[in-house]
Amino acid sequence: MRIIETIAEMRKLRRESRRISLVPTMGFLHQGHQRLIAAAANRGGLTVVSIFVNPLQFGPDEDYDRYPRDLARDLVTARSAGADVVFAPAVSEMYPAGVSTTRIELGPITQVLCGRTRPIHFSGVATVVAKLFHIVGPSFAFFGAKDAQQVAVIRRMVRDLNFDVGVVRVPTVREANGLACSSRNRYLTDEERERAGTLFRALTAAERLYAEGERRQAALIDAVLTMVESAAITPEYVEIRSWDCLDPVGATLDERPVLLALAARIGRARLIDNVLLGTDLAE
Ligand code: AMP
Repeated sequence: MRIIETIAEMRKLRRESRRISLVPTMGFLHQGHQRLIAAAANRGGLTVVSIFVNPLQFGPDEDYDRYPRDLARDLVTARSAGADVVFAPAVSEMYPAGVSTTRIELGPITQVLCGRTRPIHFSGVATVVAKLFHIVGPSFAFFGAKDAQQVAVIRRMVRDLNFDVGVVRVPTVREANGLACSSRNRYLTDEERERAGTLFRALTAAERLYAEGERRQAALIDAVLTMVESAAITPEYVEIRSWDCLDPVGATLDERPVLLALAARIGRARLIDNVLLGTDLAE
């Protein structure tokens, strides 16, 4: 496995390569990332994993400085998952003029759900992913379903700006109690980690109700809220929206599939999770 730290070297390799699959990450790799890398490796061609904690997508009061980092361990994990190349540029390589850089703004899709409390986050994500697409030149890029809004934002950017990149959505990998794997789970105590399993249990309870025929949006959301609050968790949001554009849906769910998404703070961690209702794609 090759480790590349400069844009010039990555571009040279790109010119020599037939087909590239890209897995953008912020490192501190876990089983979710491993699944993305394995899915990319399965496509054939060159599998490139980028590891870059992107300052542009963190708000001023967020965890950029304390975000967990462990490149040595990540290299072992990436290799064993099937990566051919790890692209791990320094911040000064990606943003030589600092963070006051050209930014990609997508509008309303970035301001709903997580965007309400993280107003600059998705513009930062879109900007770094656009840069990575230009630098790495992938035919396919792999993103996790856990970050449903991110997938929607990237798909919209690819469509609006005509990137010739196929965006592949990979199902969420979970810990034994259902908690979605996340680098930020590191912030949880054992007790909080156990309690955090309630988030997915609540989503699956709503999934069951939906499967039994419940189509009232409020009833489905209530079912989630009741379970989450019974575990002494106050969610930041629990919402149902169209899965692709994140548009509001009616009081009665007549379109499918729809996205049921939530965010909650537990201890020092802000956690997100979601399921798709009304599709066989749902996990
Ligand atoms: P991050 O390093 O957290 O920015 O995540 C990098 C990529 O891994 C993103 O596309 C995430 O959606 C994806 N990812 C993170 N957690 C999971 C998970 N539990 N299952 C599947 N993909 C994930």
